[in-house]
Amino acid sequence: MNEKRICIRCKSPDIVKHGLTLKGTQRFRCLSCNKTWTIKKEIKEKNKYSQISKISELYLDGRTSRELAKIYPTSPVRINSMIRQFLSSSPNWHDYIDNLLSEKCHKNPKQIYLSGKKFYCSWNNPDFNEMFVAFAIDSMTGFILAYNVCFGESHHIWVELLNNLKERNINTNFFLTNGSEISINAVSQTFPESDIKISYHRNYRDKELACCLSRSSPENKLINDAVRIYFSLNNQNIAHELGLKDENMLLEYLLSIQDEFLEIVKLRLFYRTKLYNDSLPILFKKRFEKFHLLKDDPNPIINSWVAKQMLSKDENGLTRLALFTQDYSKLNFDDFINNNINKPNFRHSKKVQNRLLLEVVARCLELPIFTNECQFDFDKCCLVS
Ligand SMILES: [Zn+2]
Repeated sequence: MNEKRICIRCKSPDIVKHGLTLKGTQRFRCLSCNKTWTIKKEIKEKNKYSQISKISELYLDGRTSRELAKIYPTSPVRINSMIRQFLSSSPNWHDYIDNLLSEKCHKNPKQIYLSGKKFYCSWNNPDFNEMFVAFAIDSMTGFILAYNVCFGESHHIWVELLNNLKERNINTNFFLTNGSEISINAVSQTFPESDIKISYHRNYRDKELACCLSRSSPENKLINDAVRIYFSLNNQNIAHELGLKDENMLLEYLLSIQDEFLEIVKLRLFYRTKLYNDSLPILFKKRFEKFHLLKDDPNPIINSWVAKQMLSKDENGLTRLALFTQDYSKLNFDDFINNNINKPNFRHSKKVQNRLLLEVVARCLELPIFTNECQFDFDKCCLVS
């Protein structure tokens, strides 16, 4: 791999050779900041960078600074300050995705799920350490569009979160909430035109799906629904990339591989508790409950944690970013840290493209927006408890 040389201080690519040292080692000079260095120094810096980057990722995944101090031989306090310093230089998640999405203008999701979690971030005095995180998540893919952290839940935190979406031109006609009065009121205030569903509708939709799948020939109905919903999205990147330009072409394609497609729908339904949109807030709570170092300034850590979750691959090699954008599957956490939104000249393999399409279309069926009238007798469905 031939990476382009950049300045070790300011990351500028405007570098010139700058003679040799007495021992004959090549020196470089940065034209932007005048820093000079040798290859030896450059390698040392790179190693240091990849080490702290690795440590930060492990930390975000749940390892404690005490554990990490054993891998990187120093004190837990020093580990903490190194990680905090490293993550503080990463871009703001909201800015990062806004830059990324501005190119293709497809950031308006079909439905936004609002989910919040109370958590306590100190070991010592739980009475005074209540914090609250509010998430605005794409209901279909679990992609975090915005988050907000503060001390305790309030009307204000939800309004602020929703206004943040508005200011960034992220709009939707449908919201899904867990039914809490406080978030519903905030939606009515900030997005008065939108329709609000509650989690119950999602459960109902799952039951419809289960009912449908249990029948002998659900293929046509489900595949028709999936195609119709997919083409009602603002974003049809992956179908276009595969040359499936209209509903008929997608329909024909899905019918030709219907066993594979329906298997994905079935498996997703089967593993639903794990896949539910709430899995992220639950994961968040698991990571940050009693996390006493968070309180000084939670943002660098939480910001990077969000990015890490969105840019980690699932078992199919797809990130949530890839699912949401139906693209960009090659961007990773390291790209985020370096504020890189362009990875030119990449092509997904046909296999990954195909999987991405099926995963996205399967998720369309789960949206509690279009509840068709079930053509079967729903009350008698054996799968409805
Ligand atoms: Zn420089």
